[in-house]
Amino acid sequence: MAFFDLFKKKTPTEKLEDRLSHTQLTCTGCNTTRNALDLYNQFYICPQCGKYLTIGARERINLVVDQDSFQPWFDVVEESNPLGQSEYLKKLKTAREKSGNNEAVLVGRAKLGGVDVVIGACDANFMMGSMGRVMGERITKAFEEATRLRLPVFLFCCSGGARMQEGIISLMQMEKTAAAVKRHSKAGLFYCSILTDPTMGGVTASFAMLGDVILAEPGARVGFAGPRVIQQTMGQTLPAGFQTAEYLLEHGMVDDIVERRDLRYRLFYLAKVHTTRIAEVTATEGRVPSNRTNEHLAAEQKTPWEKIKLCRSRDRASTMDYIDLLFKHFYELHGDRYFGDDNAMIGGIAYFGAQPVTVIGELRGADMAESVKRNFGMPKPEGYRKALRLMKQAEKFRRPIITFINTPGAFCGVDAEQRGQGEAIARSIMEMSDLKVPVLCILIGEGGSGGALATAVGNKVWMLENSTYAILSPEGYSAILWKTEDRAEEAALIMKFTAQDLYELKVIDKIIPELGGANKQTVQRIADYMKQGIEEFLSEYRGMTKEQIRDDRYNRFRKF
Ligand SMILES: [Zn+2]
Repeated sequence: MAFFDLFKKKTPTEKLEDRLSHTQLTCTGCNTTRNALDLYNQFYICPQCGKYLTIGARERINLVVDQDSFQPWFDVVEESNPLGQSEYLKKLKTAREKSGNNEAVLVGRAKLGGVDVVIGACDANFMMGSMGRVMGERITKAFEEATRLRLPVFLFCCSGGARMQEGIISLMQMEKTAAAVKRHSKAGLFYCSILTDPTMGGVTASFAMLGDVILAEPGARVGFAGPRVIQQTMGQTLPAGFQTAEYLLEHGMVDDIVERRDLRYRLFYLAKVHTTRIAEVTATEGRVPSNRTNEHLAAEQKTPWEKIKLCRSRDRASTMDYIDLLFKHFYELHGDRYFGDDNAMIGGIAYFGAQPVTVIGELRGADMAESVKRNFGMPKPEGYRKALRLMKQAEKFRRPIITFINTPGAFCGVDAEQRGQGEAIARSIMEMSDLKVPVLCILIGEGGSGGALATAVGNKVWMLENSTYAILSPEGYSAILWKTEDRAEEAALIMKFTAQDLYELKVIDKIIPELGGANKQTVQRIADYMKQGIEEFLSEYRGMTKEQIRDDRYNRFRKF
């Protein structure tokens, strides 16, 4: 059975089964009433209309954690009424009865696929999951305990915002929880927030949007100001799908949208990846036999212009081909958390043998439709910012980074300039120089100028035999030198951008043979060759300190 199939289905305990079978739930989408046990078995997704039903905190947690592993913390009635409103006390009493919970959040300790975690869930049935002092306190204490116990935190968010009845004290919970998240983060620990319907106001402006990884359920409404407020105060018409999980993904604010039935596996995967330490990883599996003849030297020699054309051909093996062949369980993460999700640049977490790694690379598209979607492999600032965000995340969790470079260059357009294309590339280069984890960069196609360098600041830089890496395209070079693009082929001869040229200039450290050309027929053998090299690369850096790894990279580029 596949690794993740184990995490798809979960049977309720007898006690839960008994309770659920005596409960009826009505779908808010289509008004059908069903037995809660049936709905539990379908992850509380309405079989009639597909709506994701609101789930109480306890069920939320039980749906994902290992059987009977959840131990609640701080689960006692605690009163907070800073403004002294007697109305509020009555409301709290009703909320307790309605939700079967004593506050709007439940936290505790549990296991996810055997991994110890701290987990919590906000409860929409308790005053719309609004955050007052008790809720803020529980979340803060959960993060403090997780920091002390060195455990990752998973938190299902769901909230109408700050709790109005507690006034400014409610606002202080935003600061308090965010500060606890910061301390947990500084201790190098992992936090995943899962945004469910609805997550609004003060909760989005504090712990909900601060996860190392932020997941969302399909269709969940997420935003700071409510749609009605925006419409009424600003008189603005809201775009279709505004403030939905899908809208957020497109705008770079969440890493992924996960179907409810896949959540258990996804959370387990993230818990596992973020608790694996480099020191625990020994020999990697799938070692390829050593057959390192200089096959590539015997290969047919191509002219620089022929190489350029080869790199641009649609059947050239892509970043995705190498990811599929070199790694297992690649999980793509999205967004720069500022503006958008750039499809020209992809990145995520994967396993190289038993070693978690972060993988990043451009995609150019295998046909016209995909090429348009991928902007022909030309990233915009949000692409570089996503790549950098993922690299900083890799550094935090001590994951080696492997980048694949295949881009005609950074996108040149008004929108890219408006959002700071130069700044995005500059910051990426600067921050990469300082990363304290091993970085391996592999040029697999065209390496177009600064746009390529932005993800090519590695401890080691390798190139495929027919790849190119240049200051400018030969067409551009010809245009600048001779005021015409027609002499590109001639320019290619003098530019020194082939792997062989760059190896001599010590810009790259290794040439990877292409065995005739990197395409569908040869990519498996090329990947096998790379795999062996990557194993050697990782073991070379495994014994080094963080500072040694960083200084090694600094010195590599310092010599130019
Ligand atoms: Zn329904």
